[in-house]
Amino acid sequence: MLPSLKIRGKLIFSFSIAMILVLCTLGFVVYHSFASSTRIDKQKIAGLHLEVMSSDLVQLAANERLSLRALEQNIDDGADPEPLLRQYLRNTLYAEGVLLVDDRGVVQQSVGDTGAIQSLLTSGIATNIQPGSVGTSIVLPGSDASELQVGRFLAAAQIGGMELLRSVEYDDLPAHSVVVIAHEGQPIISNHEPIDEELHATFLQLVDSQPRDNELSAVPDWYGMRQSVGNLPIELWYMVPKKIFQSDIFNLQNRVVAATIVLLWLTLWIVLAISHRITLPIRELTESIARMKEEEYAVPLSFRDSGDETAALAKGFEGMRQHIDELISVDPLTSLYNRRYLMRSFVREINRARRSNAPLCCMMLDIDRFKKINDSWGHPCGDYVLRQAAHIIKENIRDHDIAARFGGEEFTVLLPMARTAEALQVGLRIAQVLEEYEFVWEGQSFHVTTSGGIASLDEIEHDEPEALLQLADIALYEAKQSGRNRVIVNHTLTEMSASRKTGYAA
Ligand code: GH3
Ligand code: MG
Ligand code: MG
Repeated sequence: MLPSLKIRGKLIFSFSIAMILVLCTLGFVVYHSFASSTRIDKQKIAGLHLEVMSSDLVQLAANERLSLRALEQNIDDGADPEPLLRQYLRNTLYAEGVLLVDDRGVVQQSVGDTGAIQSLLTSGIATNIQPGSVGTSIVLPGSDASELQVGRFLAAAQIGGMELLRSVEYDDLPAHSVVVIAHEGQPIISNHEPIDEELHATFLQLVDSQPRDNELSAVPDWYGMRQSVGNLPIELWYMVPKKIFQSDIFNLQNRVVAATIVLLWLTLWIVLAISHRITLPIRELTESIARMKEEEYAVPLSFRDSGDETAALAKGFEGMRQHIDELISVDPLTSLYNRRYLMRSFVREINRARRSNAPLCCMMLDIDRFKKINDSWGHPCGDYVLRQAAHIIKENIRDHDIAARFGGEEFTVLLPMARTAEALQVGLRIAQVLEEYEFVWEGQSFHVTTSGGIASLDEIEHDEPEALLQLADIALYEAKQSGRNRVIVNHTLTEMSASRKTGYAA
C-alpha cells in the first residue's frame, strides 16, 4: 500500500505511525508507573483506614469491658442491678442492650434491646461468650468465662456495629468502599447494609485468597484488604470496586486518548504544510513537463526557492526550460527570433493592441538579389551578410519591437504601438543603414540593398497574424516589382491603385 501512496500520503502515514508509537510507548510507561504508584498509594490509604478503624474498635471494646467490669463489681457489692444496668446503658455509646445472667445462663435482669444476646445464650455459647455473628451486632463479654464462679452474674453488651462504623468519621474513605467486620471468615456487619449476595460472594472470594494483614488482594472487579483487631476475635475488611480504585487511571487513560487525538490532528496539519512545501515544486514541474509535451516552452515555472532539494530540482528544471525555450525561439545564424517565436508573439501582440486600442505594424524585409551574393561570393559570405543585416535591423528598432528571421534572407519586424508612418520611418532607416554598410569579404567590399513591405493592424478585419503577414508580403512584392531598394506601406497600394499615384518609396 505504502509505495502506491503519494508523498503527502506517505508523510502522513509515517508521521502518524511514529506519533502513535511514541504516544503508545509514553502512554504505556506513564500508565504503568502511574498505576503501580496509585496502587501503592491506595494500598497505604486503605491500610491507614483499617488501622484507624481497628484501633477504634480495640479502644471501644476496652471501654466496654471496663464499664461492664465496673457494673459487675457494683452488682457483686450488692447494689440493685436494674438502675445500674440503666445507667450503664445511658453512658455507653454503642451498647443497645445489657443483661445479667447467672452461671447457669438464666437471665436475671435485662435492659434495652437484648434479643441478640439472648439468642446467643440460648444457643449455648454464653458459657464461653465470644463476639459472634448476630445480625448486625457484636457481642462482647463482660468477663471471661474462666472467671465465672457459681452464683456470680455475667453481663454482656450488644454493640451496634453500624453505629460503630458510622460514628467514626472516615471522610477520606473513597466512595463506594465497603468496610466489613467479620468473624472467622463470615461477615458480621458492614457499612454497606445489607450485604447482598453478590457482595457476600465477593467477600468470600477475598477471604479465600487468604491475604496477610495490610496486603491488597484482588478478585475480579474488587480489591480487598484485611486487618486484625487487637486480640479481639474479629477482623476488619476493606473492599473497593476496581473501577473506583482505578478511576484515576481511567482518567489518565482518557487524557492520553484525548492528547493522542489532538496531537494526531496537529500532526496532520503540520504534515500537510510540510508536504505542501515539498510537493508544490514537484507539481509545478509536472505541469511544466505536460506543457512542454504540448510544445509550450514559454511559461516560466513558479516556485518558492525554499533552498531544499525540490527547490534545487525546480530551479535546475527552470534553467533547462529557459534554455530550450531560447533554443527553439532563436535563429542560430542571426540570433534573431525565429518564425516560430514570431508567430507566437504575433498572436499576443495583436490581442494586446486590440485590447488597448493601440496601433501595431508588421514589416517584412528582404535582401535584394541575395542569390547573386551566394553565387558570387559563396554561401559563407551569404551567411555573413545575413548575420550583419540581422545586427543592423536589431540596432535600428526599439526594445519592445520583435525582429525575427522569417526564412532565407527574409526578416519580419513586429512594431507594437507604431503607426504606419513610424513603421515606415524605421523601415527606411534600416534600408538606408544597410545600403550604406560596407560589407567586406575576403578583402573585397560590396553593398546590398533591401526591399520592405509594411502592413498595419487597422487593415485587417480578422485578427489573424497570417492576414497581416500577407498584406506586408503584398507590399514587399510591390517593392520588388517596382524596382527593389524601397519600402512600401500596404494601404498606399490601395490608394495607389485608386489614384494611380506612386506610394512611398525609398
Ligand atoms: P530578390 O531580390 O527577388 O529577393 O532576389 P533574391 O535572390 O534575394 O531571392 P531568391 O528567393 O531568388 O533567393 C534567395 C536565396 O537565399 C536562395 C537561397 O539559396 C538563399 N538562402 C536562403 N537561406 C540561406 C542561408 O541561410 N544562407 C545563405 N547563404 N543563403 C541562403
Ligand atoms: Mg531577396
Ligand atoms: Mg526572398
